Amino acid sequence: MKLTSCTLTDVGLRRTNNEDCVYADDSNGLFIVADGMGGHAAGEVASAMAVETICSLFPPLSSLPADAANSLKKAFLTASRSIRKVASVEDSKRGMGTTLSVLYIEGETAHLAHVGDSRIYRLRGTDLEQLSIDHSLVAEQLRLGLISAEEARSSQMRNILLQAVGLEDKVDIFLLRQPVLSDDLFLLCSDGLSDMIDDDQIYALLQQTGSIQQAAERLVEAAKAAGGRDNISIVVVKIDD
Ligand code: CA
Repeated sequence: MKLTSCTLTDVGLRRTNNEDCVYADDSNGLFIVADGMGGHAAGEVASAMAVETICSLFPPLSSLPADAANSLKKAFLTASRSIRKVASVEDSKRGMGTTLSVLYIEGETAHLAHVGDSRIYRLRGTDLEQLSIDHSLVAEQLRLGLISAEEARSSQMRNILLQAVGLEDKVDIFLLRQPVLSDDLFLLCSDGLSDMIDDDQIYALLQQTGSIQQAAERLVEAAKAAGGRDNISIVVVKIDD
């Protein structure tokens, strides 16, 4: 499989700093979005630390597919520990954390590892599917049928995360392994995109003709046109035979 990707990150229209961090390495099949949180510049530090940690540990030494999930899990826990360590000794970094969504494509297998409310989508043919699960309070309320999709979208509690990397010792990492097909398109994004435009709009913008760079630009522009309340980060990965 041949991988081609592009990354785009934008501060948006309301924030003065960008706490997101994105990474793409086509030759190693590694793609990451992290969305940091914490006062002052702490969020930026947390997301950058998470991305650096994953990059330093990937690709793993063993290339057995069953080991990839384990390696991802270990890398997430290492990232979490590193962030907590800095947060515990520097007052200005106290409570910092980050979402972390990683797509690792090895041969014909996609390994996903994820914590938080950034997202990993897959577009296959006409089917856009969110493969990751949001670790957010409203997503949980929605899953339990306590609120409607409409209420979830407008909820004041939209930004409350149930877990993040760096906040607590225990992190429940969402892991998924999927076969990769030629012409699949993966989209990793921070909530600055998915909070601003819905899946139907994302689908429509991904379906338009043009390069993946143009698709990424269209997505960022749409999020800004819808308000651009948060930093917007995107990684688009195209799979070819
Ligand atoms: Ca965000």
